[in-house]
Amino acid sequence: MAEQIRVRFAPSPTGKVHIGNIRAAIFNWLFARHVGGAFLLRVEDTDLERSTPEAIQALLDCMRWLGLDWDGEILYQTSQRARHLEVAEELLRRGLAYRENKGGQGECVIFRMPKEGVIEYDDLVKGRMRKQAKDTQDFVIVRSDGSPVFHLANVLDDITQGVTHIIRGDDHVENTFKHIQLFKALGAPIPRYAHLPMIVNNQGKPYSKRDGAAFVGEFREQGFLPDALFNFLALLGWAPGGDREIMTRREMAEAFDFAHCKASPARFDVKKLTWMNGEYIARQPRADFEAAFDARLAAAGLPHEPLNGLRAELLDQIQPRTKTYADIPANCRWFFAEDYPFDEKAVAKRLHADGAAALLDEAAAAIEAAPDFTVASLEALVRALGEAKGCGMGPLVHPIRVAVSGRAEGPGLFEMLWLLGRGRTLRRLRAVAARLREGTL
Ligand code: GLU
Repeated sequence: MAEQIRVRFAPSPTGKVHIGNIRAAIFNWLFARHVGGAFLLRVEDTDLERSTPEAIQALLDCMRWLGLDWDGEILYQTSQRARHLEVAEELLRRGLAYRENKGGQGECVIFRMPKEGVIEYDDLVKGRMRKQAKDTQDFVIVRSDGSPVFHLANVLDDITQGVTHIIRGDDHVENTFKHIQLFKALGAPIPRYAHLPMIVNNQGKPYSKRDGAAFVGEFREQGFLPDALFNFLALLGWAPGGDREIMTRREMAEAFDFAHCKASPARFDVKKLTWMNGEYIARQPRADFEAAFDARLAAAGLPHEPLNGLRAELLDQIQPRTKTYADIPANCRWFFAEDYPFDEKAVAKRLHADGAAALLDEAAAAIEAAPDFTVASLEALVRALGEAKGCGMGPLVHPIRVAVSGRAEGPGLFEMLWLLGRGRTLRRLRAVAARLREGTL
């Protein structure tokens, strides 16, 4: 029987969960689900000061939020401490490690690296990797205070958990040469390695908090959907082939392989993530969108019961145009409140033009006099007005939009006016015309 593939996500929960870390979890999960293997979770909580219960809770919350379900029990690294120290003793007994007094603080245990030959392995992403033994150095595996060092704990836990493939960020490549020697010393099979490319910003530098949101929790707060973030992060270093981008978890797991993983740095393009999130929001069941819509408006202190009962119709317009939930209050304020803000650029371009005030008044008069007030009748009305003035619809549409909403974008203008209703439309057009004449806008 073929051996079962076992992978693990082994985060050090020392604070907020960085997207680079969770990207490693996603690749492990995709590979495990692709091959029908096990996706294990090991919490490397050996940094006792920084591995707080809150940090561990935040990590588990992020994983659940993203749908990264793990198999079996969580292994907490600190629970293995006795075994880590026992193995260090064994390495000492076998002469593969030695004690040394470092800086007069007590004795450390140091692992011996080979002095000649090469250490090499085939990385599933980066290809053949080699390092001359003479370019490596012996390294500490137990500190003078008796605590096991990352390298020892990490390798021993991988052996304990029967890990067959180690998928992690390429900041661990240098460690891998050390770890391979530890696996050899312990007579354990060396796992296959896949080191994922660095995530970089638009300038090609490592992506950091200075570039924008970097922690999973921030994306969640900003109103990104877990499915969209998952999809986007899965494409940081992997391309399924063809022009496929929007994919379900199941489709991604089916398609995943290392042959399509890239070794070159992966650019974190927040515009692409935002676009993708919009695609996911547009496809959301209405009830889910509506719940988020209400919650965001309530949090922004906006009364969100449509004044004229056109709730579903408003949602029809807003849902397909929403890129992140966080945009909802600003995008919809025009609908719910009379104190909607005016975008300066839009005002300068569309309303500070000659004749804008007169034009808004003319439009108001025509709308007031029209027998009907429907999307189609409004469109016919504005078209007719444009023809009568010999200017077409364009010079009318934009100023009217900015006048009634304060913004240059949003739903189609006629849908917008119809949603507002005749009374509010007229009041706003006339109020803005008056302000323009007074010079107060
Ligand atoms: N705790 C390490 C980290 O978060 C684990 C690296 C690994 O996957 O081996 O970077």
